[in-house]
Amino acid sequence: MGSLLHVDEVTVVFGGNRALDGAGLRAERGAVTGLIGPNGAGKSTLFDVISGLRKPTTGRVLLDGRDITRLNPSRRAKRGLARTFQRLELFGRLSVRDNLLVAAELGPKRRRAATVVADIIDRLELHAVADATTDTLPTGLARQVEVARAIAARPALLLLDEPAAGQDHTETARFGALLRALADDGTAVLLVEHDMDLVMNVCDEVFVLDLGKVIASGPPSVIRTDETVLAAYLGEV
Ligand code: ADP
Ligand code: MG
Repeated sequence: MGSLLHVDEVTVVFGGNRALDGAGLRAERGAVTGLIGPNGAGKSTLFDVISGLRKPTTGRVLLDGRDITRLNPSRRAKRGLARTFQRLELFGRLSVRDNLLVAAELGPKRRRAATVVADIIDRLELHAVADATTDTLPTGLARQVEVARAIAARPALLLLDEPAAGQDHTETARFGALLRALADDGTAVLLVEHDMDLVMNVCDEVFVLDLGKVIASGPPSVIRTDETVLAAYLGEV
């Protein structure tokens, strides 16, 4: 075991503003790691840097000890990285099942893609919508499908950007159980989320970002009472 993902001193400058300012974190295999912080803190930008959509001005991203800072997103996907987007990025004209199949075909070839997809449809209880095109789905359900698609690639590192937004209480609880199960299977899960009950219940470790810097990290019990975190973020949630 050990850290699968190391983000080291990453800075991203947008037109003179530092969206990220020397930010670093780690995500371990078999664990759910939370990334929280106020709107505009840099969470989605950090996901862009980790997934290869944005090159950092300075800093490094290591996956399984290898420097992947210069690899493009598809090469990173081949090395086991998958993500979801805060704004949804499904293939709207394709059915739920076909969205999942596209991802499953890209994953490891150990199992048939159709079998992998059938399992995920079972696990996320998506039978009723499996043949619907995704552009007809309400947002909450579309988010579940986006998570399902990321899982279909059977990633070693799964990045989730506000996956519980638009979910009701029951869906969120089921989702938390799913994240635990993925971690128990050995996946490293990195979760950006504003639902603090979900974050505090499901995460093993939490990193707090504010104005592009990591201002605290530790287990949920410590983060919940950290004075700096309360002042910057949790006091408002
Ligand atoms: P979060 O996901 O934590 O809400 P973001 O990573 O989306 O934060 O944004 C961090 C900062 O970077 C914000 O100040 C935002 O306005 C800025 N930003 C994000 N994307 C861009 C972009 N493409 N161009 C310029 N500024 C951006
Ligand atoms: Mg964001």
